[in-house]
Amino acid sequence: MRKRKESPAVDPQLQPASTLPGVGPAVAEKLAARGLLHVQDFWFQLPLRYEDRTRLTPVAALRPGMTAQVLGRVVAVERGFRGRPTLRIVVADDSRGGLALRFFHFNRAQLAQFAPGRRILCFGEARPGLHGLEMVHPSYRLLAEDAVVVPGDRLDPVYPTVDGIGPASFARLVDAALQRLPDAATLELLPADACARLGLPGLREALLLAHRPPPGDELAGFADGSHPALRRLALEELLAHTLSLRRQRVALRRHGAAAVRPGSRLAKDLRGRLKFALTGAQQRVLQEIAGDIARPEPMLRLVQGDVGSGKTVVAALAAADVVAAGHQVALMAPTELLAEQHLANFRAWFDALGVEVAWLAGKVTGRARTATLARIADGRAQIVVGTHALMQQQVAFAGLALAIVDEQHRFGVHQRLALRDKGLAGDRVPHQLVMTATPIPRTLAMSAYADLDVSVIDEMPPGRTPVTTVAVNADRRGEVVARIQAACAEGRQAYWVCTLIEDSEEVEAQAAQSTFELLGTALPGLRLGLLHGRMKPAEKQAVMARFKAGELQLLVATTVIEVGVDVPNASLMIIENAERLGLAQLHQLRGRVGRGAAASSCVLMYKGPLSAMARERLEVMRASTDGFLIAEKDLELRGPGELLGTRQTGLAAFRIADLGRDAALLPHVQEIADALLAQDPQVADRLVARWVGAAARFAGA
Ligand code: ADP
Ligand code: MG
Repeated sequence: MRKRKESPAVDPQLQPASTLPGVGPAVAEKLAARGLLHVQDFWFQLPLRYEDRTRLTPVAALRPGMTAQVLGRVVAVERGFRGRPTLRIVVADDSRGGLALRFFHFNRAQLAQFAPGRRILCFGEARPGLHGLEMVHPSYRLLAEDAVVVPGDRLDPVYPTVDGIGPASFARLVDAALQRLPDAATLELLPADACARLGLPGLREALLLAHRPPPGDELAGFADGSHPALRRLALEELLAHTLSLRRQRVALRRHGAAAVRPGSRLAKDLRGRLKFALTGAQQRVLQEIAGDIARPEPMLRLVQGDVGSGKTVVAALAAADVVAAGHQVALMAPTELLAEQHLANFRAWFDALGVEVAWLAGKVTGRARTATLARIADGRAQIVVGTHALMQQQVAFAGLALAIVDEQHRFGVHQRLALRDKGLAGDRVPHQLVMTATPIPRTLAMSAYADLDVSVIDEMPPGRTPVTTVAVNADRRGEVVARIQAACAEGRQAYWVCTLIEDSEEVEAQAAQSTFELLGTALPGLRLGLLHGRMKPAEKQAVMARFKAGELQLLVATTVIEVGVDVPNASLMIIENAERLGLAQLHQLRGRVGRGAAASSCVLMYKGPLSAMARERLEVMRASTDGFLIAEKDLELRGPGELLGTRQTGLAAFRIADLGRDAALLPHVQEIADALLAQDPQVADRLVARWVGAAARFAGA
């Protein structure tokens, strides 16, 4: 007997969007641009809000701010001109009181409809106007005398707009997709008791509730995410993402890796040459890494440590063991500036030990590049430091056994995987060590890094004095300039960071340039330097070197210095427009000072008036220097999407879940994930396909 052919139509969740009525190629393309590829994608496209047309509200009962449906008659039509043509339609019903509908855009045909005496059904928000309440551009329908108005029995969903598709058509598509929802038992993938235990509905019920809530339902719960239907959906989405990451990890662990014996002579020599002793936290994390790379399966470890906690040297000591065992190490940093600094550190540590440290960045071209590529390919380059240039196709390693990625939050998960693939040799992959200074609250780390083990360097090297932070209105610039003068007179150095809202390197560079000139005039005795993203790499490097050597006293820079720049003698940080920056970025910038023994300070300059959020952020910065506490606050204030960056893991791009809001679900997510992976891996696969789909397939593993 022939085997029945597997058709994608068998599984309604994977039917393409083009099977929905009215979806031709052009519409399908617009939908695809929004990630709406399959019928199931419409199920998970929840409304932004709801409109309650299930009731009629008497005009007299309207209150300012109320969104309501009114059935009445047109009593007056007034055309006016207030800067532009306006149309005012006065509506009344049997109750006492009046309501005006106001239009700023209207056409002749519309105008002709509004004859006094006509019945009208309108829906909108009542706001106080010049003469009583009015609705601006309400939705409305003129009714025949004998038309019967039957209010709906469900709230009307309002979906996010999809370019080129009208709201009504889009709502019809969602309706059609929901018609194809399988019965509850077929649709459900979560273990039966999981939802019941949490008091959450099944998937089918949750979806129907979220798309078409009955009147009287707790609408506030949809807005703040506390509604059981939303929590149910968030639970499943978080679970699917966790499963996807766990599966990647399991798949990776199936590969082998070079087992590296720790405690090499080389590492001991390096350690002996350091001018400081490792902190307890550094030693502990180093041991965790050593334990991982001693095994013949790939390490996948994230090292979190606040700015200045000393992650680099830990990476270098791990690298030493790997090099001693005859393998190669790659260290990738997100910016050239940071990569260069690592290069300088690694060369200072390794040159004297006879280890070759190669350099590969975009700017390494021509013959130098060819030569470097050759040394990487034949293994003479034992450690390779660079930017994402390391991931380019032409780069081939002789035997990459450890890939270190610094400041992970700047890289996406795919880039991390690309570097790992550089080390694919037979069935072997490199050990991966990821370092980040973005402290991530534990609950979040569990989900965001479900594919990684996490180590934390939670201790600062001794002898650091905490940075004092003040917030100063920008109109007190003169005092700030005097502070710079004073600090430099004491032999210290300072940063002045220019920030802008626009994400334009060019505009930012210009601002830095003019600030540089202004400060040059205001501080005639000082040696100033300028650093921005528009400068040539060699220029940047030269400026950085002069600042590091103490030749420059004040460095005017853009946020290019945010990550990793390390000049211990700098003790004053001025941040302009601090009110516009998020906590994570402020913390990173502030971390450039407080690296030496001198007392350091950070001046957050702002332009008033401050929003409540900005005020709170500045206050958090003033009150704390603890990166983890600041991260918790950041999570509270901004949500995890911002904290992790959407490029982070793809994980922040949830459709429904919100890691901050739904943090309480995470322990349950872990528990269900464990159970499913152990007992029902096929169900786990279906969950991943349902929610993560193409993205997970792309990431592969
Ligand atoms: P981050 O964790 O922010 O990357 P770095 O690795 O750049 O921090 O280290 C910050 C500074 O602290 C560097 O100058 C480094 O040499 C120094 N450092 C690292 N570990 C110690 C230690 N145990 N004692 C003293 N200084 C240390
Ligand atoms: Mg660093």
